[in-house]
Amino acid sequence: MNLSSSQQGEACAHVLQGLWERVREGQEDILLSPYLPASYAFLTHLFLCAPFLALDALGGVCLRVRSWRISAGSGAPPSVRLWYRCFWSVLYRYLTVILPATALFQSLRSPALPAQAPSCLQLFVEIIACFLLFDSFYFIMHFSMHRVPWLYRNIHQQHHQHRVTFALAAQDASSTELLFLLLLALSSAWVVDCHPLSEIFFHLINSWMAVEDHCGYNLPWALHRLLPFLGGAPFHHTHHIKFNGNYAPYFTHWDHLFGTYIA
Ligand SMILES: [Zn+2]
Ligand SMILES: [Zn+2]
Repeated sequence: MNLSSSQQGEACAHVLQGLWERVREGQEDILLSPYLPASYAFLTHLFLCAPFLALDALGGVCLRVRSWRISAGSGAPPSVRLWYRCFWSVLYRYLTVILPATALFQSLRSPALPAQAPSCLQLFVEIIACFLLFDSFYFIMHFSMHRVPWLYRNIHQQHHQHRVTFALAAQDASSTELLFLLLLALSSAWVVDCHPLSEIFFHLINSWMAVEDHCGYNLPWALHRLLPFLGGAPFHHTHHIKFNGNYAPYFTHWDHLFGTYIA
Protein backbone atom coordinates (compact mmCIF):
# COMPACT_ATOMS: atom_id res chain seq x y z
CA MET A 1 0.00 0.00 0.00
CA ASN A 2 1.49 3.32 -1.11
CA LEU A 3 0.83 6.32 1.12
CA SER A 4 0.84 9.83 -0.33
CA SER A 5 3.32 12.30 1.20
CA SER A 6 0.52 14.09 3.12
CA GLN A 7 -0.65 10.74 4.56
CA GLN A 8 2.94 9.92 5.54
CA GLY A 9 3.21 13.35 7.21
CA GLU A 10 -0.01 12.73 9.12
CA ALA A 11 1.12 9.24 10.23
CA CYS A 12 4.44 10.64 11.42
CA ALA A 13 2.70 13.52 13.28
CA HIS A 14 0.41 10.95 14.93
CA VAL A 15 3.39 8.88 16.11
CA LEU A 16 5.14 11.98 17.47
CA GLN A 17 1.99 13.15 19.28
CA GLY A 18 1.61 9.71 20.90
CA LEU A 19 5.28 9.67 21.87
CA TRP A 20 5.15 13.19 23.32
CA GLU A 21 2.04 12.36 25.36
CA ARG A 22 3.77 9.27 26.78
CA VAL A 23 6.89 11.28 27.61
CA ARG A 24 4.84 14.03 29.26
CA GLU A 25 2.39 11.84 31.12
CA GLY A 26 3.15 12.18 34.82
CA GLN A 27 6.74 13.20 34.01
CA GLU A 28 6.37 16.99 34.27
CA ASP A 29 8.47 17.13 37.43
CA ILE A 30 11.30 15.23 35.77
CA LEU A 31 11.07 17.12 32.46
CA LEU A 32 11.12 20.48 34.21
CA SER A 33 13.76 19.52 36.79
CA PRO A 34 16.84 21.75 36.62
CA TYR A 35 18.93 18.61 37.24
CA LEU A 36 17.63 16.88 34.09
CA PRO A 37 20.21 18.15 31.52
CA ALA A 38 23.26 16.97 33.46
CA SER A 39 21.68 13.68 34.57
CA TYR A 40 20.43 12.96 31.04
CA ALA A 41 23.82 13.82 29.49
CA PHE A 42 25.73 11.62 31.95
CA LEU A 43 23.39 8.63 31.81
CA THR A 44 22.93 8.62 28.02
CA HIS A 45 26.70 8.92 27.66
CA LEU A 46 27.23 5.84 29.84
CA PHE A 47 24.48 3.90 28.10
CA LEU A 48 25.83 4.70 24.62
CA CYS A 49 29.40 3.82 25.66
CA ALA A 50 28.41 0.33 26.84
CA PRO A 51 28.42 -1.33 23.36
CA PHE A 52 31.95 -0.03 22.75
CA LEU A 53 33.19 -1.45 26.05
CA ALA A 54 31.78 -4.78 24.82
CA LEU A 55 33.53 -4.29 21.44
CA ASP A 56 36.85 -3.60 23.22
CA ALA A 57 36.43 -6.83 25.17
CA LEU A 58 35.39 -8.74 22.04
CA GLY A 59 38.41 -7.36 20.16
CA GLY A 60 40.62 -9.60 22.32
CA VAL A 61 39.17 -12.72 20.71
CA CYS A 62 37.65 -11.58 17.40
CA LEU A 63 39.92 -10.61 14.53
CA ARG A 64 37.05 -8.97 12.61
CA VAL A 65 36.33 -6.57 15.49
CA ARG A 66 40.05 -5.79 15.83
CA SER A 67 40.23 -4.95 12.12
CA TRP A 68 37.65 -2.17 12.66
CA ARG A 69 39.90 -0.40 15.18
CA ILE A 70 41.35 2.75 13.64
CA SER A 71 44.43 2.58 15.83
CA ALA A 72 45.01 -1.15 15.30
CA GLY A 73 48.71 -0.48 14.76
CA SER A 74 49.19 1.56 17.94
CA GLY A 75 48.67 -1.16 20.50
CA ALA A 76 45.94 -2.90 22.44
CA PRO A 77 42.51 -1.32 22.99
CA PRO A 78 42.10 0.63 26.25
CA SER A 79 42.06 -1.57 29.33
CA VAL A 80 39.09 -2.02 31.64
CA ARG A 81 41.18 -0.23 34.28
CA LEU A 82 41.43 2.85 32.03
CA TRP A 83 37.65 2.80 31.42
CA TYR A 84 37.11 2.52 35.20
CA ARG A 85 39.45 5.45 35.98
CA CYS A 86 37.83 7.52 33.25
CA PHE A 87 34.32 6.74 34.57
CA TRP A 88 35.11 7.99 38.11
CA SER A 89 36.83 11.11 36.86
CA VAL A 90 33.85 12.04 34.63
CA LEU A 91 31.37 11.27 37.46
CA TYR A 92 33.36 13.44 39.89
CA ARG A 93 33.26 16.41 37.48
CA TYR A 94 29.53 16.00 36.90
CA LEU A 95 28.75 15.92 40.62
CA THR A 96 31.01 18.81 41.61
CA VAL A 97 30.61 21.26 38.70
CA ILE A 98 28.34 20.23 35.81
CA LEU A 99 25.22 19.28 37.82
CA PRO A 100 25.04 22.48 39.94
CA ALA A 101 26.07 24.83 37.10
CA THR A 102 23.62 23.46 34.51
CA ALA A 103 20.86 23.41 37.18
CA LEU A 104 21.39 27.13 37.62
CA PHE A 105 21.32 27.69 33.84
CA GLN A 106 18.16 25.60 33.47
CA SER A 107 16.41 27.51 36.30
CA LEU A 108 17.08 30.79 34.49
CA ARG A 109 15.84 29.31 31.23
CA SER A 110 12.53 28.04 32.72
CA PRO A 111 11.35 25.78 29.84
CA ALA A 112 7.64 25.07 29.18
CA LEU A 113 5.89 21.85 28.13
CA PRO A 114 3.39 22.45 25.29
CA ALA A 115 0.51 20.01 24.84
CA GLN A 116 1.11 19.68 21.10
CA ALA A 117 4.01 17.62 19.72
CA PRO A 118 6.11 19.15 16.92
CA SER A 119 5.34 18.16 13.34
CA CYS A 120 7.85 15.81 11.67
CA LEU A 121 9.21 18.64 9.55
CA GLN A 122 9.54 20.91 12.61
CA LEU A 123 11.35 18.15 14.53
CA PHE A 124 13.75 17.51 11.64
CA VAL A 125 14.49 21.20 10.96
CA GLU A 126 15.00 22.01 14.66
CA ILE A 127 17.41 19.09 15.20
CA ILE A 128 19.46 20.00 12.08
CA ALA A 129 19.51 23.69 13.10
CA CYS A 130 20.73 22.73 16.61
CA PHE A 131 23.51 20.59 15.15
CA LEU A 132 24.65 23.27 12.69
CA LEU A 133 24.72 25.86 15.48
CA PHE A 134 26.45 23.57 17.99
CA ASP A 135 28.99 22.49 15.36
CA SER A 136 29.81 26.11 14.43
CA PHE A 137 30.13 27.29 18.05
CA TYR A 138 32.27 24.31 18.95
CA PHE A 139 34.52 24.80 15.89
CA ILE A 140 35.28 28.38 17.01
CA MET A 141 35.83 27.33 20.62
CA HIS A 142 37.98 24.30 19.74
CA PHE A 143 40.05 26.24 17.18
CA SER A 144 40.70 28.98 19.80
CA MET A 145 41.68 26.43 22.45
CA HIS A 146 44.35 25.04 20.13
CA ARG A 147 45.63 28.45 18.97
CA VAL A 148 45.79 30.20 22.38
CA PRO A 149 48.36 28.36 24.55
CA TRP A 150 46.76 29.52 27.84
CA LEU A 151 43.35 28.13 26.81
CA TYR A 152 44.92 24.87 25.66
CA ARG A 153 46.90 24.36 28.90
CA ASN A 154 44.09 25.32 31.27
CA ILE A 155 41.00 23.98 29.50
CA HIS A 156 41.63 21.57 26.64
CA GLN A 157 44.88 19.71 27.39
CA GLN A 158 43.17 17.24 29.69
CA HIS A 159 40.99 15.97 26.83
CA HIS A 160 44.15 15.31 24.77
CA GLN A 161 45.70 13.00 27.35
CA HIS A 162 44.28 10.13 25.24
CA ARG A 163 46.04 9.85 21.88
CA VAL A 164 44.27 6.54 21.28
CA THR A 165 40.62 7.41 21.74
CA PHE A 166 37.89 5.24 23.27
CA ALA A 167 34.18 5.91 23.75
CA LEU A 168 34.19 7.05 27.39
CA ALA A 169 37.02 9.52 26.62
CA ALA A 170 34.46 11.71 24.79
CA GLN A 171 33.66 13.29 28.17
CA ASP A 172 37.10 12.92 29.75
CA ALA A 173 37.83 16.63 29.74
CA SER A 174 38.38 19.41 32.26
CA SER A 175 35.33 20.57 34.23
CA THR A 176 35.44 23.89 32.35
CA GLU A 177 35.40 22.21 28.94
CA LEU A 178 32.65 19.77 29.94
CA LEU A 179 30.57 22.64 31.25
CA PHE A 180 31.12 24.67 28.06
CA LEU A 181 30.08 21.69 25.94
CA LEU A 182 26.84 21.12 27.81
CA LEU A 183 26.00 24.83 27.98
CA LEU A 184 26.74 25.08 24.25
CA ALA A 185 24.29 22.25 23.51
CA LEU A 186 21.63 23.75 25.82
CA SER A 187 22.14 27.22 24.35
CA SER A 188 21.89 25.90 20.77
CA ALA A 189 18.46 24.42 21.59
CA TRP A 190 17.51 27.67 23.34
CA VAL A 191 18.55 29.87 20.39
CA VAL A 192 16.66 27.63 17.94
CA ASP A 193 13.69 27.76 20.34
CA CYS A 194 13.24 24.01 20.07
CA HIS A 195 10.21 22.02 21.05
CA PRO A 196 11.21 19.96 24.16
CA LEU A 197 10.79 16.72 22.16
CA SER A 198 13.20 17.98 19.45
CA GLU A 199 15.60 18.96 22.23
CA ILE A 200 15.44 15.48 23.81
CA PHE A 201 16.30 13.95 20.41
CA PHE A 202 19.04 16.53 19.77
CA HIS A 203 20.81 15.80 23.08
CA LEU A 204 20.48 12.05 22.55
CA ILE A 205 21.92 12.15 18.99
CA ASN A 206 24.55 14.64 20.13
CA SER A 207 25.72 12.20 22.83
CA TRP A 208 25.77 9.36 20.33
CA MET A 209 27.83 11.34 17.81
CA ALA A 210 30.35 12.43 20.47
CA VAL A 211 30.72 8.81 21.59
CA GLU A 212 31.07 7.63 17.98
CA ASP A 213 33.70 10.33 17.30
CA HIS A 214 35.83 8.92 20.12
CA CYS A 215 35.02 5.21 19.86
CA GLY A 216 38.24 4.38 17.99
CA TYR A 217 36.39 2.16 15.50
CA ASN A 218 35.68 2.79 11.83
CA LEU A 219 32.57 0.64 11.83
CA PRO A 220 31.04 -0.58 8.53
CA TRP A 221 27.65 0.89 9.55
CA ALA A 222 28.98 4.21 10.91
CA LEU A 223 26.98 7.31 10.02
CA HIS A 224 29.90 9.08 8.30
CA ARG A 225 30.04 6.32 5.65
CA LEU A 226 26.44 7.12 4.72
CA LEU A 227 26.72 10.90 5.00
CA PRO A 228 29.99 12.14 3.46
CA PHE A 229 29.71 15.61 5.05
CA LEU A 230 30.23 14.01 8.49
CA GLY A 231 33.76 13.38 9.73
CA GLY A 232 33.08 10.53 12.14
CA ALA A 233 35.60 8.59 14.20
CA PRO A 234 38.51 8.64 11.66
CA PHE A 235 38.23 12.46 11.37
CA HIS A 236 38.33 13.04 15.14
CA HIS A 237 40.92 10.32 15.71
CA THR A 238 43.23 12.23 13.33
CA HIS A 239 42.66 15.33 15.45
CA HIS A 240 43.80 13.46 18.58
CA ILE A 241 46.90 12.18 16.75
CA LYS A 242 47.95 15.33 14.85
CA PHE A 243 46.45 18.17 16.98
CA ASN A 244 46.53 20.80 14.21
CA GLY A 245 43.29 20.31 12.28
CA ASN A 246 39.83 18.73 12.15
CA TYR A 247 38.50 21.09 14.81
CA ALA A 248 34.78 20.71 14.09
CA PRO A 249 33.04 18.02 16.11
CA TYR A 250 30.79 16.53 13.42
CA PHE A 251 30.55 18.29 10.04
CA THR A 252 33.61 18.88 7.88
CA HIS A 253 32.60 22.12 6.08
CA TRP A 254 34.26 24.57 8.54
CA ASP A 255 37.58 22.72 8.38
CA HIS A 256 37.43 22.64 4.57
CA LEU A 257 36.60 26.36 4.53
CA PHE A 258 39.41 27.37 6.92
CA GLY A 259 42.00 24.99 5.44
CA THR A 260 42.27 22.97 8.64
CA TYR A 261 40.93 19.70 7.20
CA ILE A 262 43.35 16.79 7.56
CA ALA A 263 42.60 13.54 5.74
ZN1 LIG B 1 41.47 19.34 20.46
ZN1 LIG C 1 38.19 14.42 21.35
